[in-house]
Amino acid sequence: MSAENTAEHERFMLAALREAAKAAANGDVPVGAIIVRDHKIIGRGYNMREARQDALLHAEIAAIRQACRHLKSWRLSDCTLYVTLEPCLMCAGGIIQSRINNVIFGALDPKAGACCSVVRAFDLPLHHIVNWQHGLLAADCSNILKEFFRKRREQKKLIGTKGQRKQAALEAHEARLRNNEDESS
Ligand SMILES: [Zn+2]
Repeated sequence: MSAENTAEHERFMLAALREAAKAAANGDVPVGAIIVRDHKIIGRGYNMREARQDALLHAEIAAIRQACRHLKSWRLSDCTLYVTLEPCLMCAGGIIQSRINNVIFGALDPKAGACCSVVRAFDLPLHHIVNWQHGLLAADCSNILKEFFRKRREQKKLIGTKGQRKQAALEAHEARLRNNEDESS
């Protein structure tokens, strides 16, 4: 990567991070993606699994759909996808199906990553070759995830477990019943 290239790659990864922040605002795991062609952004997406209750609406898929609409073509050849987290198996499939040539991702996903962590989908002997690299702004990409999960754990602690909430509701109900009995007696 030349210095000029690195600056451009970082600029696009920062745009992907801004997409990821939109997911976090919805309570979705913050992952964001950008698709670039001829130095221009033609697709953006963020994880909307919770917001839309759609198992398939990962950031990459949302960005691929927008880029296809933009180009009026399902073929995204000569495009680069920037994504904050290593793509999963479904998204790796979507990248191959849409003929994206280059993938640049930030953080590794040791639990579900399909580039190098769990499987190496782009190394399979398929009809389409995807060049990929990782590590660009990796700390920022992983910090946004860590921060999201830390906040979520804190919120859960505040609200309590499902069992604790059920117990509290039951106790409140019983207290109301006792109050009613006191008033009627
Ligand atoms: Zn995915």
